[in-house]
Amino acid sequence: MQQEATNEELQSANEEILSSNEELQSINEELETSKEELESTNEELLTVNEELQNRNAELTEARDYAQAIIRTVRSPLLILDKDLRVKTANRAFFQTFQVDEKNTEGNFIYDLGKGQWDIPALRKLLNEILPKNNVFDNYEVEHVFPSIGHKIMLLNARKFYKDGENILLAIEDITERKSYENQKDEFIGIASHELKTPITTMKAFAQILQKRLGQSGDKKDVYLLNNINSQADRLTNIINDLLDVNKIEAGKLELHKKKFDLDALVKKVVVDFQYTVDTHSIIKAGKINELVYGDESGIEQVLANLITNAIKYSPKADKVVLNILTDKRNAIVRVQDFGFGIAKNDQERIFERFYRTSDKEKNNVSGFGLGLYISSEIIKRHHGKLWVESMTGEGSTFIFLLPLKSQDK
Ligand code: ADP
Repeated sequence: MQQEATNEELQSANEEILSSNEELQSINEELETSKEELESTNEELLTVNEELQNRNAELTEARDYAQAIIRTVRSPLLILDKDLRVKTANRAFFQTFQVDEKNTEGNFIYDLGKGQWDIPALRKLLNEILPKNNVFDNYEVEHVFPSIGHKIMLLNARKFYKDGENILLAIEDITERKSYENQKDEFIGIASHELKTPITTMKAFAQILQKRLGQSGDKKDVYLLNNINSQADRLTNIINDLLDVNKIEAGKLELHKKKFDLDALVKKVVVDFQYTVDTHSIIKAGKINELVYGDESGIEQVLANLITNAIKYSPKADKVVLNILTDKRNAIVRVQDFGFGIAKNDQERIFERFYRTSDKEKNNVSGFGLGLYISSEIIKRHHGKLWVESMTGEGSTFIFLLPLKSQDK
């Protein structure tokens, strides 16, 4: 009896051992897979670590690269934090404004160099304009610095984010350039003015001679004198353009605005042109039946410039079409030609002072690159707009808008 009981106990003990054995085996298996998992996680961590190291190296490289650029650039550069304290300044800044590193970095921009940067125009840029726009280009600031005297500077600023908000401020000293520009403008002004009197006198004498020779019936000499006359007219036009540019630059272009009949003006200009031009028909279409407000002779000058160009730059065409219409708020004038056209990348630049395109077919068309600049300045001073729609080889349409009612304040 006892023997039987012992046997049973042994058997159950045996079974327990067996099942424990099985459990141990499965635990062993689990441990084995865990080990494998750990090994692969470890490998992954190693690659992640390697990648992090690479990224870190790249970041350091990028930072060194940015710093090298900032240090090397010859224009003074400042990096400010959002409270307008200087984080970094480059060598050009220290040299130009004769300040040292110690008293610059970490300081509030308006406190730099005994408050020499506390300039109202700069405050306006940093406190009012930049927060709204994020970027600002070519903001002109004039200031007398105690250490370096009177300076005209061009400021470019933009916000960027790195450890919070930062402002990059690039400062270009344009004092010398401005002074040359002023001298050049002054020279052009005086020279054009001085040239005007002799040419007017020459023209008057040529006209007297023309009359006399006309009466005596000498056709060949009349023809030659006609040429002198028209060349004198060309010279007068160039001189007038140069004088206009000078007035525009000095803010002294005088416009006498009042209500006038644009339909009648366009008609008159077309008739005047048709009188001297026999290569192209100048066709006028449309009517606005309303008076516009502006400077009549200024708008006449714009029309004359656009029609002259339309003829000049379409030697193979035989017409120029003028259209006047209104969109209720503006008079709209379109001058369309069927000539060379203007490449896309030139279409904005042709309104710049002295800009002429470099296409071959226009090489032998003479000009100074001033007509469109003057025209666009005249239209701007009417609160209007002048632009071009064109495709190379398919002609151009110059369009200007002129508000019907006075926009002057
Ligand atoms: P200019 O004709 O004296 O060169 P403008 O200021 O009137 O000066 O014109 C600037 C440039 O724009 C010209 O040199 C020419 O290349 C281009 N342009 C102006 N009008 C036309 C036009 N109707 N068709 C093609 N190109 C034109």
